[in-house]
Amino acid sequence: MSMTVFFDEAHRQHSPKGELHGGELVEPFERPSRIDFILDRLELKGFCDIRRPDRFDPAPVFQLHDSGYLNFLETAWDDWVREGFSGDLIPTTIPARRMPANHCPENIDGKAGWYAMAVETSITQGTWEAAKASCASAQSALRHVSSGEAECAFALCRPPGHHAMRDMFGGYCFVNNAAVAAQMFLDSGAARVAILDIDFHHGNGTQDIFYDRSDVLFISLHGHPKHAFPYYSGYAGEVGTGDGSGYNLNLPMGPGTQYDEWCGALETATGRIREFGADALVVSLGVDAYKDDPISFFRLESKDFIDCGRRISGLRLPTVIVMEGGYAINEIGVNVVGFLEGFLDN
Ligand SMILES: [Zn+2]
Repeated sequence: MSMTVFFDEAHRQHSPKGELHGGELVEPFERPSRIDFILDRLELKGFCDIRRPDRFDPAPVFQLHDSGYLNFLETAWDDWVREGFSGDLIPTTIPARRMPANHCPENIDGKAGWYAMAVETSITQGTWEAAKASCASAQSALRHVSSGEAECAFALCRPPGHHAMRDMFGGYCFVNNAAVAAQMFLDSGAARVAILDIDFHHGNGTQDIFYDRSDVLFISLHGHPKHAFPYYSGYAGEVGTGDGSGYNLNLPMGPGTQYDEWCGALETATGRIREFGADALVVSLGVDAYKDDPISFFRLESKDFIDCGRRISGLRLPTVIVMEGGYAINEIGVNVVGFLEGFLDN
């Protein structure tokens, strides 16, 4: 088995100056150099099949995301500049509980808040181009696998996607790349697709998109929302609704969780995927469960990502691995590539 990597330099066009964190504007944790560390490590470890993706295909994205939302992402920066602002676009308000919130404002600040699920994520001049290129990597990785050309592929996406909801951005995410890959698996003939999200944070966006559907099983291992972003989503009681009831599995864990407990949750997840009878798998690969991650609280070691990759590979499914989070910059390459090596080693 080999692993083709899909990646586009256009991610650099999304490079906000600041992120609102701890009452200050700090250098964003989600920054372009994350990708450089991963590319360096891929090269060092002999992953030499790195390809530029084909052109972005909007069709499956419009299938999953709200068209008003996508139009907002495309025009937000120009509207922001026209309003006379010159800094990063960061909304100052979002619709709060018990506000009727029946009308999307025309004012760009209000509109940005309408389409936001959190306010740490800035939109800049090149954000939409970068988000499309990121999604294109997931789409090309998907085609590479769904065509039968390969058993697996890695989409080195940036910006990430799993927090992006049907009609909201946030958590550094704009377009839900993993959800798009899952939908494209279905569109190419799979009957049942599983998405396994091992990023430290709850994949609230992916949950939102498939919450009422039974053709996509969504499973997320994450920091308990009592203590961790995105705070308002990710509880074990969120199991899906309507046709989707029973097809959403949240496995939240508390501060200080180590690999033995985490791996137990992973075994629960893989067991559920086997029982579901998935034809294909999408992995939302975040490596922020790592012990030194600056914005997370699990205690996984680098070697644990290798073991994790091996176990997921044991499902023996056509698999697209989609890059999500991971903010311990110096170790991000080691942990991502360790996962890929473990996956290939099985
Ligand atoms: Zn994360």
